[in-house]
Amino acid sequence: MTTEAAGYFSRELLGWYLENKRDLPWRQNRDPYRIWVSEVMLQQTRVDTVIPYYERFMNKFPTVAALAAAPEDEVLKCWEGLGYYSRARNLQAGAREVVERHGGIIPGDKQAVSALRGIGPYTAGAVLSIAFNEPEPAVDGNVMRVLSRYFCLEDDIAKPSTRAGLERLAASLIPEGAACDFNQALMELGALVCTPKSPGCLTCPVVAHCEGRAAGREHELPVKTKAKPPRPETRLAALVAGSGAYAGCVLVRQRADSGLLARMWELPHVADPQGAGGEAAPKRRGRRAASAGAGAAAGWDGGDAFAAAAAERAGEPPQRIRAAQMDALCRQLAAEDGLLVRPTGWWGETEHTFSHIVWSVQVFEAEFGFVLEQAAALDAPESPAAPGIYPAGGAPVGAMLAAEAPVGYQAGDSGALRGHDLADTSRPGHSPSPTLTDGTAARDRMDAGIPLASDNAVAQRLPRGYRWIGPEHMRELAFPNVFLRILRDYWDGRY
Ligand code: SF4
Repeated sequence: MTTEAAGYFSRELLGWYLENKRDLPWRQNRDPYRIWVSEVMLQQTRVDTVIPYYERFMNKFPTVAALAAAPEDEVLKCWEGLGYYSRARNLQAGAREVVERHGGIIPGDKQAVSALRGIGPYTAGAVLSIAFNEPEPAVDGNVMRVLSRYFCLEDDIAKPSTRAGLERLAASLIPEGAACDFNQALMELGALVCTPKSPGCLTCPVVAHCEGRAAGREHELPVKTKAKPPRPETRLAALVAGSGAYAGCVLVRQRADSGLLARMWELPHVADPQGAGGEAAPKRRGRRAASAGAGAAAGWDGGDAFAAAAAERAGEPPQRIRAAQMDALCRQLAAEDGLLVRPTGWWGETEHTFSHIVWSVQVFEAEFGFVLEQAAALDAPESPAAPGIYPAGGAPVGAMLAAEAPVGYQAGDSGALRGHDLADTSRPGHSPSPTLTDGTAARDRMDAGIPLASDNAVAQRLPRGYRWIGPEHMRELAFPNVFLRILRDYWDGRY
């Protein structure tokens, strides 16, 4: 790197930015709280997507103190749809630390800011430089790409040592007294001109000294080793429609306090014990929604993994796969949550990519059965009989499964799905299945001593964390995108 090229870069970039910077909501002033929130939201997320979320969030939580004092559920609800929900939790935890340790004033020194929850080197650099004009580098993927290309650097940007080197380089480029504008200029160039797949060299303000462009390597740089692809997993989800007092409602549950998607709401779902594949099964209805998240952002196509897994199962009759999935859903939910439901047919599918895992979610409509007294149960996956396990109503689980198997589906060798027209059953208030009003089915259940879902006393007993909700509850409960998509489609009657 020559001193001339570095000086040119800083000078030209700064001039270009001052003339071309976008009018973004977080650039209205240099309030460190506003900048902090924007930087957290912008991680892994496009500016266009962030803007409406940012404005809503700032209206609801206009100060650090307001965010610190808010119930976590409200913060998650405000974040719903943005993904990477740990960002929201960490942001609020950091806000609480600011209130407790710094009297609600975000500190302007590196050590104190870096000690706040959820603030890494990039966010610390962004807040310190943009809000306080401190000469700290703010190096993210955009900035690493720009610097690698401009200086024609071959080092792998996935390595921490490369990042550290680029942080030193970026710090050395900051013109005196202009950290705020310069760091934003670097980000802006990466976002608008020196983009990942099609760098706009012809309109670039620093093209005259760009070494990557001069070497014809602008499309090859930066060097980055590929991250391990997310692990594919098929999840089986139950759309349990309520009846009686719960007509028009569906059953949802809240996730645990820690771990993936902590405290968010979802449809009950379990892992498909047959593995990753789901594609070999028939598509009677539904869609595969676009993948979202880091895996998709990294260009990894989770569909390949599912297709590979599906190929392994290609010899199996598709309807048999669905029948096996319904059986597994019933048994796993009973074993894990003590909830017995009866899947009645496949409803749809969707897909969601997290940073380390990609879910293919196969959704089945189901009827509510009852809550088991003991959740240990169903340890005989090949047999409907589970002696000794008794539900609240007094009948063995195996008896219910045996009584109901011929009504909704057969999981035997024939593998035939004997469902009904699913399109007629997704409307609020509609009886979820003709089998509930089917005299034979109802009689079988009553003969077996099994309470019907319309028995409110039974339906009110739910496993811990479960509840019935209608569309109106979507305004208050926070769902991950994947379940939002399913529930919106369900209640809109589309699909
Ligand atoms: S000239 Fe091209 S490769 Fe170089 S910084 Fe500009 S856009 Fe990027």
